[in-house]
Amino acid sequence: MNAKLDSGIATLPVTRQTFDEVLVPTYAPAAMVPVRASGLDLWDQEGKHYLDFTSGIAVTALGHANPEVNEALTRQLNTLWHIGNGYTNEPVLRLASALIDATFAERAFFCNSGAEANEAALKLARKYAHGKFGPHKSRIVSCLSSFHGRTLFTVSVGGQPKYTEGFEPLPQDLSHIPYNDIEAARAAITDDVAAVIVEPIQGEGGVIPGNPDYLKALREFCDKTGALLVFDEVQSGMGRTGSLFAYEQMGVVPDVLTSAKALGNGYPIGAMLTTTEIGQYLAVGTHGTTYGGNPLASSVGLKVLELINQPAFLGRVKEASAKVMANLQQLAADYPNVFGQPRGMGLLIGLPMAEGFKGRSKDYTKLCEKLGLMLLIAGPDVVRLAPALVVTDEQIVEADRLMRAAVAEFAGA
Ligand SMILES: *Cc1c(COP(=O)(O)O)cnc(C)c1O
Repeated sequence: MNAKLDSGIATLPVTRQTFDEVLVPTYAPAAMVPVRASGLDLWDQEGKHYLDFTSGIAVTALGHANPEVNEALTRQLNTLWHIGNGYTNEPVLRLASALIDATFAERAFFCNSGAEANEAALKLARKYAHGKFGPHKSRIVSCLSSFHGRTLFTVSVGGQPKYTEGFEPLPQDLSHIPYNDIEAARAAITDDVAAVIVEPIQGEGGVIPGNPDYLKALREFCDKTGALLVFDEVQSGMGRTGSLFAYEQMGVVPDVLTSAKALGNGYPIGAMLTTTEIGQYLAVGTHGTTYGGNPLASSVGLKVLELINQPAFLGRVKEASAKVMANLQQLAADYPNVFGQPRGMGLLIGLPMAEGFKGRSKDYTKLCEKLGLMLLIAGPDVVRLAPALVVTDEQIVEADRLMRAAVAEFAGA
């Protein structure tokens, strides 16, 4: 008998305070605890309502508790949960086929998160380069301020030293170059480079769109040296920028693409997409994960892909983007001492703090939260908006109203 369960721990009252008592302090969650959500509407423990312009960091692209996604998951819940990689399953075969059909890719590998998808991409790049060119070809080139996940390999490849401090020794043969700097890339991408990994638009690093000429130059340098070009579309993918994947708008096709976040709309899944020729280097037994491509995650991913990859849906993302952008441009014009010019693609938008308010993005989003609007930051100097892609015109107007109410209070303070 479990004494704790007997004493009713499953129904024990829990609060934000409980977090500090029972969880490892890797996060600093908000004061309110969300308990229920539908679409972009969310309620906390007190029953207070919030308009969610975060999507759980660009994850719930179809909104919370999307009925069609719920239906797909429920159907699969009652059919087959788990089978292990000694067997394949119907949902994963359908999801892989659909992703291949929708992209440059010919092969897919599934896992459970963005970090794992990038880990797979980086391991594939090393395996491919070593197999095809020899062990000297091992260097991974990535960008400063980039974010690729929190496994030791992906966090070391990421361009934010504060995330690797204290975790040494780190994986070797990694180089970091400034983003959007063609000459730095030309100098760094030499014959010993196995892969260049890049976000087509940097998310965590401040919502910084990649310059198409830069991404084209990376393609050219990779072709010259035999390095693989990996696009990390964990945040930019699945319709977020107004196309299924951002690469489609950049005029550059990568060798490997990673997806996660919105692919599961909140159900954990990650995917690595590549070609047949490259993918064959991950032969039987070279890589894997227990839950990768499980029927539940795959059923969700397939439904999400079906709903997002429609011209009308993606067209609406661009339309909603233009409306949010126009509002933010006006906000920045009305409060030039507080905000700089908004930037981004689709519904991944950054609003930088002006000089006098540098370092205070979190203070501003906290004020918005108090008024009932959830926003993200992308570092201390940038407010980040990533509403569900199903955001309505009315919700865009309401977010603008709340952001204005908050800035009036903020600027006066
Ligand atoms: C969030 C993110 C990741 C990491 O994904 P996890 O699911 O948290 O492991 C990797 N790359 C980018 C660009 C991201 O935004």
